[in-house]
Amino acid sequence: MKCRACNNNDCEEVIDMGTAPPSNAFLAEEQLNCVEGYYPLKLYVCKICWLVQTLDQFPADELFVDDYPYFSSYSSTFLNHCEDYCKKILSRFEISSESKLLEIASNDGYLQDIFKKQGFKLIGVEPTKSAANIAKKKGHKVHDVFFGTKLGLDFAKQKSQFDLIIANNVFAHVPDINDFALGIKKCLTPNGIVTIENPSVMSLVNECLFDTIYHEHYSYLSLKSVINITKKNGLKIFDVDKISVHGGSIRYYLTHTENDKQSVSENVLCLQNEEYQKGVEDIRTYMNFAQKCNELKNQFCKFVYSILSDGKSLACYGAAAKGNTFLNYCGLGAKEIDFIVDKNPQKWGKYAPGSRIKIQPIDALHSKKPDFIIILPWNLKTEIIHELKFTKNWGAKLVCAIPDLEIVS
Ligand SMILES: [Zn+2]
Repeated sequence: MKCRACNNNDCEEVIDMGTAPPSNAFLAEEQLNCVEGYYPLKLYVCKICWLVQTLDQFPADELFVDDYPYFSSYSSTFLNHCEDYCKKILSRFEISSESKLLEIASNDGYLQDIFKKQGFKLIGVEPTKSAANIAKKKGHKVHDVFFGTKLGLDFAKQKSQFDLIIANNVFAHVPDINDFALGIKKCLTPNGIVTIENPSVMSLVNECLFDTIYHEHYSYLSLKSVINITKKNGLKIFDVDKISVHGGSIRYYLTHTENDKQSVSENVLCLQNEEYQKGVEDIRTYMNFAQKCNELKNQFCKFVYSILSDGKSLACYGAAAKGNTFLNYCGLGAKEIDFIVDKNPQKWGKYAPGSRIKIQPIDALHSKKPDFIIILPWNLKTEIIHELKFTKNWGAKLVCAIPDLEIVS
């Protein structure tokens, strides 16, 4: 396949995860008799720019539909992370009440709330109408369209450029990553700052976090690949932070290539070196990852079937995209797992794509008392273990399968 960043025609297949429905395409009861669309889920790596990527088979507007069911506000761990981010950015950069601030993929306005509390107006871009409407109801300004060069140019034409552009957890979700980066360049003021946060592909491959691979997630980024994409589009990375969200992410700080006010920090060179040592440019890194995924899957399936043969019951916590990828890759469904609980009322009564396991409120745990509960969003396990303390009343065991199969409580 052709690399979406550098157009190299010689990308190498890393892992074939079979076919799966889009991981956020939850089914209503009446859809259970219909056929689901299954699409190949394969990961490739470009041996020129080392961008790891899935097959480009979906236009984004087919995946991020108006009722796209992801709302960031349901995780307190994530909201705390956002509070810290806001404080750090406001103290580090010269942002005044006159500054113009933009967030791309502003979701339900959780970060806009945080900036508002600090006295700053953060303008949002969010194409998913269900999320954008929640933010609008809270009084935030949101452009409910996809971001790219066209929107960046529109902002510039209206003399509406931004001093801070925040693009956290979105860069990996855009099919045309060059168009997105150029859009940022077009609507950034001459001394403007951009921050991009994304899970690190080095965490994915080294810790075998294969459940983060899904169709909506087009690219799997490293400093190496982000430098390549942003440099081509007139932006430079001048600093990086390693952050713990989503199992290990990187925050990139960028500005215009020609902005001499920001010199490139030592952190960038250190991380480049670290990635190189961990094998970002070595095809064997990716092949070892594929082998480990398979081993982890076999180990987990064996564990599930041993529980079932002991006559015990299983439920899952967290009907997120990650969990859906994981269950589908393992080939597990409603025969093995009784139900999934989730905090988001929009998902209650629906069925997980592929596995077709029913999603219920957290309360369902009280009434059904499963013996084992698999925590699918392993990245939030500390928060969830605390929340599920009540399941100890009937001796339930809490399990995480990634990065290693482990009874965590
Ligand atoms: Zn490439």
